[in-house]
Amino acid sequence: MADILVYALHYEGAFNKNSLGAVSEAANLASQIGGEAHAVVVGDVSDDLAGQLGNYGVSKVFRAEAPEGLAQPVIDVMAKIMSDQGHQYALFGGGLLGFEIGAGLAARLGAGVTMEVTQVNVVDGRLAAERPILGDSSISTSTYKDKGIIIGRLNAFESKETGGSATVEDVQVELSPFSTKAKMIQRGEQRGADVDIEGADILVAGGRGLGKAEGFELAEELAKAFGGNTAVAATRAVVDAGWYPYAAQIGQTGKTVAPKLYLAAGISGAIQHKVGMQSSENIVAINKDANAPIFEFSDLGIVGDLNKILPKLTEAIKAKKGG
Ligand SMILES: Cc1cc2nc3c(=O)[nH]c(=O)nc-3n(C[C@H](O)[C@H](O)[C@H](O)COP(=O)(O)OP(=O)(O)OC[C@H]3O[C@@H](n4cnc5c(N)ncnc54)[C@H](O)[C@@H]3O)c2cc1C
Repeated sequence: MADILVYALHYEGAFNKNSLGAVSEAANLASQIGGEAHAVVVGDVSDDLAGQLGNYGVSKVFRAEAPEGLAQPVIDVMAKIMSDQGHQYALFGGGLLGFEIGAGLAARLGAGVTMEVTQVNVVDGRLAAERPILGDSSISTSTYKDKGIIIGRLNAFESKETGGSATVEDVQVELSPFSTKAKMIQRGEQRGADVDIEGADILVAGGRGLGKAEGFELAEELAKAFGGNTAVAATRAVVDAGWYPYAAQIGQTGKTVAPKLYLAAGISGAIQHKVGMQSSENIVAINKDANAPIFEFSDLGIVGDLNKILPKLTEAIKAKKGG
């Protein structure tokens, strides 16, 4: 029997979506290996908020007094809980904080660690984590001799409400002296994180063809010219590069959308992107490569340099709207 511990990140009284996905995944996996899934929360978390994690499948929530949003204190907390309670696995949703905590925890416990995991299977009663390697062209599978730390790729795990409940147990953890050196000055959401991509009528989606983070200004200007219920979306390649927020990612490990118009600029049309947007009513693609796969499922394809086409399109739409 092996139990799984999951870190649940919270901000302004709500749990992070990726954390909830990891909680659900841990509950699902624990049931397959005959163990239990437990969550850990740090910082200012009410009984009510902590208990909500039961609705995603964990039976117990450990709560510790420590600063939220910083890696080292969470490593102290999770290392103690895993050592005291005997959890064999820790699971994290994607995101930089999860990477940092997971790596630190693995070092602290001498555990195996796998990052960017897209799927976890149960093989002979043990967890086996899959992660794409070699530019996502192959999959490698990791199993663990003893403790295993599994860190998901962002949005790899889906959250599912189960209607269950969890007990909340306070744990006392003495933080290492070096864990209290960093102070949280300010927390905030990334640019564009509050945009309702899934509900937008028009999406202007940008890919690596935009060239750099600033390239998204062209997409944002076009979205502004459309006005109304228009938002900017992105491919995973640009999200991974830090050019645009994860909240805007469309595709297999991002959001699934079906707007009236999906305008794809500088997007190659990889299958993992396609599955997230192929139900759009109208797909218009701008790509300088006439053989780009996106043209195979576009209603209208424009072969050319987006740096020239996007500004012209923006001007044309402004002119049409009389502004
Ligand atoms: C398990 C797994 C899950 C994944 N999940 C997702 C996901 O959810 N979403 C997702 O998007 N991807 C996902 N991917 C990644 C996916 O395989 C592609 O790598 C990614 O979609 C490529 O993004 P891109 O189109 O922006 O970049 P690229 O493939 O590099 O394409 C850039 C395109 O821009 C064009 N271009 C360049 N310059 C210009 C210019 N000046 N004008 C016009 N066109 C130009 C190029 O011709 C090219 O076609 C996943 C991969 C794996 C393995």
